Amino acid sequence: MTKELRFSRLIASVVELGDQSFEPQRFTNQPVLLTGTADVLASDNGAEMARCALLLLMRMTKSLTVALPAGQEALKRELRGWALQHAWDEVPQFICDPVDLSSYAAILSIGGGPRADFPWTVITSDGWTVRVTSTAAPVSQNCELSNPVGALAAASLGAGEVFKRLLGLREDKGLFLDGCVFSLWSYVADGASGPALPDVLDVDLLLAGGGAIGNGVAHLLSRLPLRGRCHILDRQTYGEENWGTCLRLTRSGTKDPKANFLSALFTGNLAAHPVRGQVEQLEEDPAWQTPPIVLSGFDNIEARHAVQDLWPDLIIDGALGPRLECQVSAHPWPSRTACLCCIFKLPAGERAEVVQQLMTGLSPAALAEPMRLLSEVDVAAAAPERREWLAEQVGKPICSVLEAASALSAASIDAGFRPSVPFVATFSACMMVAELVRYLTTGAVGVEPRFFLSLLWGPQFGEHYSEDRHRNCVCTTRAANIKKVRAARARA
Ligand SMILES: [Zn+2]
Repeated sequence: MTKELRFSRLIASVVELGDQSFEPQRFTNQPVLLTGTADVLASDNGAEMARCALLLLMRMTKSLTVALPAGQEALKRELRGWALQHAWDEVPQFICDPVDLSSYAAILSIGGGPRADFPWTVITSDGWTVRVTSTAAPVSQNCELSNPVGALAAASLGAGEVFKRLLGLREDKGLFLDGCVFSLWSYVADGASGPALPDVLDVDLLLAGGGAIGNGVAHLLSRLPLRGRCHILDRQTYGEENWGTCLRLTRSGTKDPKANFLSALFTGNLAAHPVRGQVEQLEEDPAWQTPPIVLSGFDNIEARHAVQDLWPDLIIDGALGPRLECQVSAHPWPSRTACLCCIFKLPAGERAEVVQQLMTGLSPAALAEPMRLLSEVDVAAAAPERREWLAEQVGKPICSVLEAASALSAASIDAGFRPSVPFVATFSACMMVAELVRYLTTGAVGVEPRFFLSLLWGPQFGEHYSEDRHRNCVCTTRAANIKKVRAARARA
């Protein structure tokens, strides 16, 4: 599809989401501006949003310009260093204010007022709360409470808005964020910053999977005040195609084993232990001890099942989908919450049409018209057990109902879950690390087991999906054995 392997997954997303008239190869040639206000860039969050936005945007366009206001020389030097370190061929260009705003296809501003007269998006972040606007609605400029997770989440949403502009996203396929406020701590439009990060967090972790999500998670772990140990496991080596989706991957890193490359990101009090291998092999090593918390960033069902088979105290899993879906799920033991094997089932090999009918309960006739709005008549003709849920979807395009239904049915979405654009992976990573910090500081998780959203529509339309353990899943049928294994491990 493209000779530039590094953009292959991005271009695949463009083909999937863009109009047929859109020439996909044109996407990465469009000029994008990254800028910001002196006040916001002077804050920790402002500088961190700038670093993250730079790293994300340079994986989406070959023509990125950075223009910082006067007095930001130190940040400018630092960003230039990050740009050089992470660039493939095209290094972002750094220019001085004032800038001719009319020459850009998309502009991302760290702080500032809305500019509806330009393709302009503003992001800010305060603690766990992120704010994004691409319309005339302003967002709060308060960025006081430092939090690298919130900063990356804001940059991810901002990069998502740039993606929509470069794609020329049609109105029926998604929404530009309109004064959007979202808290990673409460999962709602919450203006409160949430709790401050502690000075130190003691951890013993396994990060399983070093792809796009694992790369974002490792970045966040390296930015948090963590102390302790983190094993990083992946059997693969990075390739050129990973550069376009992995926040921190450098060109030279595309020849490195994923586990080793990510381990090198940790420089503080968190000791990294790279493991080149498969999850299934871990317990063959008599010296191996599964840490209490496992962060899972794999993109396939088999690997997720292998992670669950470690039966740690807590698994936090991140997932993403081709229509900019992001998901976090948390699976504590003991609890009644569905495990990873419950929610990620191997596909039974059914035809797509059958799966869609099963998921939505809609008739084949309704499913044949995906752009039509769902009507009361469709609901009446649907399978009885789905009518109550469908009644709440009346007035939405049938295709978006299908998306929402697929969110309810992990079995069907998972077959298409593949990394595609960098900002979706980083947003999933932010939700995972928010759950990690919540668990470390409160002993609880905020999802039972998962929260799901599509960045096409925005986090304000994200939803919780609660699910208990399945009676026919190993977490129930083998519960006694799992308890024994865990008890033996605790004694060891
Ligand atoms: Zn289960």
